[in-house]
Amino acid sequence: MNPLSTPQNFKIGSHLSSSGGYLAMAKTAVEIGANVFQFFTRNPRGGAAKAINPDDIAAFLAFSKENNIGPILAHAPYTMNLCAAEERIRNFALDIFMDDLHRMEYTPGQLYNLHPGSHVGQGVEKGIEWIVKALDTAMTKEQTTFVLLETMAGKGTEIGRSFEELNTIIQAAACKERLGVCLDTCHIHDAGYDIVNDLEGVLEEFDKVVGIDRLKAIHINDSKNPLGSHKDRHETIGDGHLGLDTLRKVINHPWLKDLPFYLETPNELPGYAKEIALLKTERTGT
Ligand code: FE
Ligand code: FE
Ligand code: ZN
Repeated sequence: MNPLSTPQNFKIGSHLSSSGGYLAMAKTAVEIGANVFQFFTRNPRGGAAKAINPDDIAAFLAFSKENNIGPILAHAPYTMNLCAAEERIRNFALDIFMDDLHRMEYTPGQLYNLHPGSHVGQGVEKGIEWIVKALDTAMTKEQTTFVLLETMAGKGTEIGRSFEELNTIIQAAACKERLGVCLDTCHIHDAGYDIVNDLEGVLEEFDKVVGIDRLKAIHINDSKNPLGSHKDRHETIGDGHLGLDTLRKVINHPWLKDLPFYLETPNELPGYAKEIALLKTERTGT
């Protein structure tokens, strides 16, 4: 299939480097056959974000409208731990979160994904308390950005390893209207949800616990490790423990097929282009 022809309604793309700005990312997306993309708001290790360039934003908005790009998904830095034990680290994380949400409004109505955090020994309950507090401080009724909590593999003391933990956060938060979930196929498999043998059952459980309407994005990754390993090591599509059969079912599932899919597989751009082309051929119907 021509990599530039995308099956109707299939929103597929990958993580891209943000070093060249928004317009550069959108152009790269088109070059690799994508119509959505993910990027880090700043260095994944944290630190200052580049100043917003209004000309770049304006050019990006025009280009993405013309080329049907979006939604775009901004990913918070990994070091942003909203439930750290130390107050200084929590405040640093909150500063980043608030600055990111402010910047997101330059591209209205897009998606912002974050790892809920690691409780580092304080316990899940205390960790969730800090996360909810941070969400309530940073989110406003006026914001147009959707904040997505990512399903986590359960490495170390990560919160978000179960649908119940994510739902507890959502139910306790004040700004629920702009709160959703990003489901990472590698992470939920590593957390112990068996989407290889029972995708239907896992999705039904998500619906029962969180509500399928909360699901706004998918990280489409294979996994280097077996079910329940709590490892979080992504594999290229079809080469891991999930396999192409499972990932094909994910992109074609009636509850998921209209959501945006973002690859975070270990690839450079040519590898992403190949995986995007492959998933387009695996897409059935519209
Ligand atoms: Fe992530
Ligand atoms: Fe992810
Ligand atoms: Zn991961």
